[in-house]
Amino acid sequence: MYNGGMEIATKIQEIRKKSGLTQKELADRLFVTRQAVTRWENGDTTPTIETLKSIAELFNVDGNILLGTNQHVCQSCSAPLASIDYLGTNSDKSASTDYCKHCFVDGKFIAYETVDDAIADSVNYAQYAGLTKEEMLAFARENYPNLKRWRKDEYPTKHFAEYQEALNLHDFDVIAKLFHKDVSFFHSGVKMTDPKEVEKFHLNFWNTIKGVKWWATDVKILHQDDKCEIYTYQYNYSGTVDGEKVEGNGRTTDVFVKNPKSGKWEFLHAHSSSETPNHDD
Ligand SMILES: [Zn+2]
Repeated sequence: MYNGGMEIATKIQEIRKKSGLTQKELADRLFVTRQAVTRWENGDTTPTIETLKSIAELFNVDGNILLGTNQHVCQSCSAPLASIDYLGTNSDKSASTDYCKHCFVDGKFIAYETVDDAIADSVNYAQYAGLTKEEMLAFARENYPNLKRWRKDEYPTKHFAEYQEALNLHDFDVIAKLFHKDVSFFHSGVKMTDPKEVEKFHLNFWNTIKGVKWWATDVKILHQDDKCEIYTYQYNYSGTVDGEKVEGNGRTTDVFVKNPKSGKWEFLHAHSSSETPNHDD
């Protein structure tokens, strides 16, 4: 769980204990169950925004102190989550400690489709951050891709990450350096064992979908020893065809082997299939 939630948990417990109430007594005053209070204090859930306000009223404190002293920012747009009234809401109506109400309502994102949308919009908030538009844009470009909503899954190994990231450079020479000499691709029933075919397959992908971005999710390690690693994961991509946004995904299994001479991990084989219709089919 993100830290913001833990701060609320700690604050509620701190204020309750200071006033000498048991969890049951606090629950009774807020018309919730004792279990609900336990869950808040364990950081398993957060109260609703209304309940956060009731807690503040009950103990006669400024509601915003329930958010803790560390400043958290919206993990979609980077706005400071400094006020209860600014928090988004989860699907169960509990207060979101990750997202602001302009980005996330009732468990759904209501603003921005991509990190680039959020970055482009950031200039409209430059004055609140005390920055010029150029400074704000530079800040957004640097920081937004690391926010929870936008950052890519952690990849299990360095060479796996290197390969995934190389696919986004749209430069076959970079990827070719990561390949084993006998590299092969099986994609949706088509076998590619000739390096020229493998190259064509990559170039075709980049040329068909303009600005295509690729990333892996749900990465599982099927096998791992000091010579060979096998990963299975969902691959995802998004880009544009004739100015229209296209997205797709599928499953793939990748095999890496360690070159006994150089000690370098090399990409040997991919076996993939697309799960959604795309323009190659
Ligand atoms: Zn936001």
